[in-house]
Amino acid sequence: MDTVVKNYVDGGFVTSSAAETVDVINPATLEVLGKTPLGNSSDVDTAVEAAQKAYKQWSKTPVADRIQPFFRFKTLMEAHIEELAATIVKENGKTLIEAKGDILRGIQMVEVVCGTPNLMMGECLDNIAVDIDCSAIRRPMGVFAGITPFNFPAMVPLWFWPFAVATGNTFILKPSERVPLTQVRLFELADEAGFPPGVLNMVHGAKGVVDAFLTHPHIKGVSFVGSTKVAKYVYTTAAANGKRVQSLGGAKNFLIVLPDASMEKSVQAMVDSCCGCAGERCLAGAVIVTVGDCYEKVKELVLKTAGNVVVGNGLDPATTMGPVISAQAKERILSDIETAITEGAELLLDGRNPNVPGLDGYFLEPTVFGNVKPNTLLTSKEIFGPVISIMQVRTLDEAIDLINGSPYGNTTSLFTSNGGAARYFVANVNPSMVGINLGVPAPMAFFSFGGAKDSFFGDVKVHGNSSVEFFTEKHTVMTRWFKEGVDGVVSPMWHSE
Ligand code: NAD
Repeated sequence: MDTVVKNYVDGGFVTSSAAETVDVINPATLEVLGKTPLGNSSDVDTAVEAAQKAYKQWSKTPVADRIQPFFRFKTLMEAHIEELAATIVKENGKTLIEAKGDILRGIQMVEVVCGTPNLMMGECLDNIAVDIDCSAIRRPMGVFAGITPFNFPAMVPLWFWPFAVATGNTFILKPSERVPLTQVRLFELADEAGFPPGVLNMVHGAKGVVDAFLTHPHIKGVSFVGSTKVAKYVYTTAAANGKRVQSLGGAKNFLIVLPDASMEKSVQAMVDSCCGCAGERCLAGAVIVTVGDCYEKVKELVLKTAGNVVVGNGLDPATTMGPVISAQAKERILSDIETAITEGAELLLDGRNPNVPGLDGYFLEPTVFGNVKPNTLLTSKEIFGPVISIMQVRTLDEAIDLINGSPYGNTTSLFTSNGGAARYFVANVNPSMVGINLGVPAPMAFFSFGGAKDSFFGDVKVHGNSSVEFFTEKHTVMTRWFKEGVDGVVSPMWHSE
């Protein structure tokens, strides 16, 4: 298949001016599904021009009218969920159930955005001084841009553009060049939902498009999700160019187990966390840390549970874990496994040679390491694949030190039946998304999402009220009305005497 995906600009699908393309590959079957054009600054200029033109009217459109296309968009997404999920599985590799979760999480963003009239309300206090009232209102700012990763082809772009657009801005998305097809279909549905031309735009590409966003004088702000190295680059470059920026990076997430945890359920949740979406989630568990004397029990259950994972094509209902995204990703994970062995970690389950009859894709089975030591690759580098590390410490404080010593700060979870321990944990760990007895504590659309330290660069997090804050500027208005009329006389109608 050599269809080159199209940009969406000014309300229509248009051919990119790019000469170069990259293949979109089904990571399970290696079928080429299409080609992504590697767009350039002239594609970005055209999209910014359309977005700027549309902003004039869209920013003045009453918010109650601005949310109407979102109701239609939600209905269309729901009506097309099977087809969208199949597209995600084909280009990303995750299972059908995971793909539906990706879309449902995206639909929840749209649902929250339908409440923008409430979310966008300002503040007001009368008589802050004699006869003076003060109100703070939220106003849109202009054209925003979003840059998204491969691992949630539907949900992550929906973290951004619905909030930007509902609050009165216009938007340009650059989806991951590896998974453009889900967004092409979602933009067709958005087109059908009736967003006015230019309000929502999409330019395909990679670094060239990103750099054009980061330096474009008419782009007010940038939202980014991807690896830490690029997140830092996006943050510093966008900020140096005077833009608002929220930039979400990678992670290394620790799951802590106390001996009093409900063991079977906890281990199931932890293995699901590490192996779900083939370990390609920013909230994926990576290191299981046993506290006290539960190491052997946890190890036995992890091996049993990880051994039950069924690897295959995500479209097959029997599959519980799909392939990783690319040949490069598989090579990187294999090399990390080699390094971990060299560093002395105990290889308990070797997933390097999966048995997936009839498919040549980028498959790996779960790999489990035991007796993992601090300050090794397994505790410090984001692997982004189905590799589980198990290590033991003596106390909860030691576990907390491990978590807080990591350069990343996306998420962490504690498994316990002790409320006091849970409370102590929550109060003392520094990742900013924390779970208790949950493997993947992903905040829902009405709460804010985003990590700390090298997992997040910026000041304002993602979705919920945070997004309304990110995509609007507060204007404070102070008002005084004089009692006198134009002739300087107080109207007799104001007073009974
Ligand atoms: P990536 O950094 O390779 O790519 C992300 C985006 O940046 C893509 O759109 C890509 O085209 C662009 N890009 C890549 N290299 C660039 C460069 N040198 N200059 C400018 N732009 C560039 O990330 P990925 O492999 O697509 O996604 C996986 C990463 O995303 C993981 O590290 C994962 O933890 C992270 N992630 C984080 C979150 C979060 O909420 N913190 C959520 C999802 C994924």
